Amino acid sequence: MKIAVFSTKPYDREFLTDANNCLEHPHQLVFHESRLNSSSCLLAQDADAVCCFVNDQLDAPVLQQLAEFGVKLVTLRCAGFNQVDLAEAKKLGIVITRVAEYSPHAIAEHALGLILMLNRNLHRAHHRVRENDYSLNGLLGFDLYQKTVGIIGTGKIGATLARIMQGLGCEVIAYDTRPDPALAAAGVSYVALEDLWPAADVISLHCPLNQYTHHLINAVTIAQMKPGVMLINTGRGGLIDTRAVIDGLKNKTIGHLGLDVYEEEANLFFENNSNSLLQDDVFARLLTFPNVVVTGHQAFFTREALAAIATTALSNASFVERGELEKTCQV
Ligand code: NAD
Repeated sequence: MKIAVFSTKPYDREFLTDANNCLEHPHQLVFHESRLNSSSCLLAQDADAVCCFVNDQLDAPVLQQLAEFGVKLVTLRCAGFNQVDLAEAKKLGIVITRVAEYSPHAIAEHALGLILMLNRNLHRAHHRVRENDYSLNGLLGFDLYQKTVGIIGTGKIGATLARIMQGLGCEVIAYDTRPDPALAAAGVSYVALEDLWPAADVISLHCPLNQYTHHLINAVTIAQMKPGVMLINTGRGGLIDTRAVIDGLKNKTIGHLGLDVYEEEANLFFENNSNSLLQDDVFARLLTFPNVVVTGHQAFFTREALAAIATTALSNASFVERGELEKTCQV
């Protein structure tokens, strides 16, 4: 299959090339650095498939253009598929596959990293020591031991984080539309959302972004949270109403915020913008808080995850090529 691969950085090319070379019948990969959108779409003109990432635009106009070019498959290099107009893809007969699981540990461990960084102010401590400043004022943290962690979405990543937090001696409560009996048996208490908000010292988001979860964290839900709560989002930016969170930080309802995703990240993340002026005033305000840590959608970024993503995305294309759709993770 000839596959136009969008949003590729040198590390993507390395892992995809290695995975492709391991296939019995390797694909013809054409790498593009640009994101897929209505202008870059032309790059897929003679491709059978496109391979896309989280911020590629797969809305109706782009899908229609891809269909006109004869593209039959979108093989996603990610788990989430909120960037795809699924109804339009179905109408056009374009198959969409994703990488349902690569390394839930990568994302869960990153969420833990954000929790520990914020909890003990490691981001501030690091800068102080480099300035020859060893004062502790402002670095006071709290023990995670015996604190209550609320996990929203206990699929592969949420369940992994739940077990990690239990290992630290936390009480884990959770909300999921489809509770996991194995996790409940392991001591995680499933509760209604209205009971999770006031009980949790730390809230971590691991549900998909869709019409039901968009702005799940908003002014109304923030008002129900424990004052000083730590909020962690490694799910998708749109789960949070950023302006409401800024208000929550200002009135101290939110004591700590750790983000790996941001609702307007498509214009910011994965690029070196250090020579440009930051145009997003909401994001700029977020960065002024000492109790906020942001990483640029890097929770997935481990060797193990990149290798698994590349192998699955290309194997999905091989399965589709051979008509073995049932072996793919079709969306
Ligand atoms: P998963 O499908 O295994 O789990 C999602 C869970 O959310 C399921 O248990 C599902 O029942 C639950 N859910 C669905 N709707 C819900 C709702 N309204 N309220 C509460 N729970 C709900 O997915 P996963 O692999 O654990 O990934 C979770 C999310 O993490 C993905 O959707 C993706 O957006 C995000 N993600 C982020 C990164 C990153 O690098 N930051 C990497 C991978 C995935």
